Amino acid sequence: MPHRETLEQLLRRVRECTVCAAHLPYPPKPVLLAKATARLIIVGQAPGRKVQETGIPWNDPSGDRLREWLQLSKEVFYDESRIAIIPAGFCYPGKGKSGDMPPRPECAPLWHPPLRAALPKIELTLLVGSYAQEHYLGKLRKGSLSDTVKAFPEYMPVYFPLPHPSPRNRLWLRQRPWFDTDVLPTLRERVAELLG
Ligand code: SF4
Repeated sequence: MPHRETLEQLLRRVRECTVCAAHLPYPPKPVLLAKATARLIIVGQAPGRKVQETGIPWNDPSGDRLREWLQLSKEVFYDESRIAIIPAGFCYPGKGKSGDMPPRPECAPLWHPPLRAALPKIELTLLVGSYAQEHYLGKLRKGSLSDTVKAFPEYMPVYFPLPHPSPRNRLWLRQRPWFDTDVLPTLRERVAELLG
């Protein structure tokens, strides 16, 4: 019988990955968390510089806001036996003209399929920001991120698209009060149900 790779073995291979090292500003340092019992995956974009330095995903103001959206304490948020945190790109991609560069395009197609196959209990995937939505929803996305988020019931129960909680998106959020009133209550309810 062929040997089946465990999640731990797969994560070891991810941590040794150098596939796009030539395009990264620092040596690769994949930032992700997962255990085979997780029921929820959070797919964001790529780690920022601070996150890459500490090795702790969402360890920044974006993470604070995301936890507030989900109404989760840090303790639960970082409990990888319940929540897997697997961004669209695992290593810090460097600075671009306006903010960080996009996640490296090699990363998600290479690593997400085997990681998901090793996470059999996942029931819901949060797609945080446009890169995660592009990878998972592709042509099923609407004309804008705003419309994709508004159409969240169409993607449930498998996916839940969200804007990125970065402080840079404060204005976006202020201009869309429906996000607080119509999206967050369902998101919180579903996440609380799953994490029980
Ligand atoms: S970003 Fe992804 S593909 Fe590139 S080196 Fe890091 S883990 Fe490998």
